[in-house]
Amino acid sequence: MAEPVADQSAGRFVEPGQIRGYHAHIYYNPETRPVAERLREAIGNRFSVELGRWRDQPVGPHPVSMYQVAFASEEFGRLVPWLMLNHGGLDVLVHPQTADAYADHTEHASWLGAKLSLRLDVLRRDPPASSARLDL
Ligand code: ZN
Repeated sequence: MAEPVADQSAGRFVEPGQIRGYHAHIYYNPETRPVAERLREAIGNRFSVELGRWRDQPVGPHPVSMYQVAFASEEFGRLVPWLMLNHGGLDVLVHPQTADAYADHTEHASWLGAKLSLRLDVLRRDPPASSARLDL
């Protein structure tokens, strides 16, 4: 079981060991979709990742079209620097996966390009009480 996310306002720090992996969400629109296609192919060829399907319609907390790139912590140091240099102007959210999906998409998140306004109301704030969850 993952440790509960510590309350930093109480002077505690969150241990990165609870991170189960990462997502990069690559956002695009009809004009930038070709850029997103080239980026997707390059990522798939270079890195050990799971490429999510194209989401042309907004889904979960994501306000615009995107696809998800899931990767293990071990791949972070290769993939994220590469994305910094090669995201082609696309907006990219990089977030860890802990027990707190809300925090993962807010204070835990990193952005390349512009920071988008996510639909945070769909995200869990606390560790799940059941198996029902949404952490796209
Ligand atoms: Zn995600």
